[in-house]
Amino acid sequence: MGAAQPVRDGSQTRSDTSAVRIGLLLPDVLGTYSDSGNATVLAKRLEWRGVATTVVPVRLGEPVPASLDLYMLGGGEDDAQALAAARLRASPGLRKATARGSVVLGICAGFQILGRRFTTSDRVEHTGLELLDAATVPGTRRAVGEVVAHVDATLGGQPLTGFENHQGHTELGPDGRPLGRVTRGVGNGDGTEGALSGRVIGTYLHGPVLARNPALADLLLSWVLGTPPRPLELPEVTELRRERLAHDRVGIRARS
Ligand code: GLN
Repeated sequence: MGAAQPVRDGSQTRSDTSAVRIGLLLPDVLGTYSDSGNATVLAKRLEWRGVATTVVPVRLGEPVPASLDLYMLGGGEDDAQALAAARLRASPGLRKATARGSVVLGICAGFQILGRRFTTSDRVEHTGLELLDAATVPGTRRAVGEVVAHVDATLGGQPLTGFENHQGHTELGPDGRPLGRVTRGVGNGDGTEGALSGRVIGTYLHGPVLARNPALADLLLSWVLGTPPRPLELPEVTELRRERLAHDRVGIRARS
């Protein structure tokens, strides 16, 4: 992303001029496939637009502050996931923050933790944070590989690309809205991908997902800033998306 030049004309309309605070939750436990990079992506996209940013890592054993603007949770193995869920259930910070409108993005294990409950491969059921109406059980086959999911216009309308590696199959409840519809890969396991409730998003896409999907990154930032951030041209990201989307089944059908 080095091609972008910082923009420092201060034209964002966030009324609160303090730095945007991005919480990176339990990076010592969750964060397979460089999921921690999602916090870096948000910080750089803000910095290049002249918005001050702080990334706040919250490690296992530290209380989760309720005062942050965004919270990122990465993926992890079942044991790490169960440990992280227990820790986050015991600390009220994330729930308090979402109640006052903070933005949350959970990836894979992080997504499952945000749901009502998840069952790990050892058949133990764990209580989730109940921020998304979703429940996860082990599927019959592990889902591994590239994913493309189409999202509607209210979520930016740009197809999402990412990489999945999970055993869990996630079913959304009546209050669960999918983030998108898979046209390549598995996602939740029923043709849908991820979940959304208010400003809380869960997705199976690693990548890190925000590096591969700038429209999603800017959607999260627009929720924090109160206005869509100005466009940012990153030719290498455009090229990455072109290459990844070339293998989308819909794209292939459209060309044949
Ligand atoms: N342990 C979970 C599963 O296998 C999540 C995996 C992940 O975060 N990559 O479903």
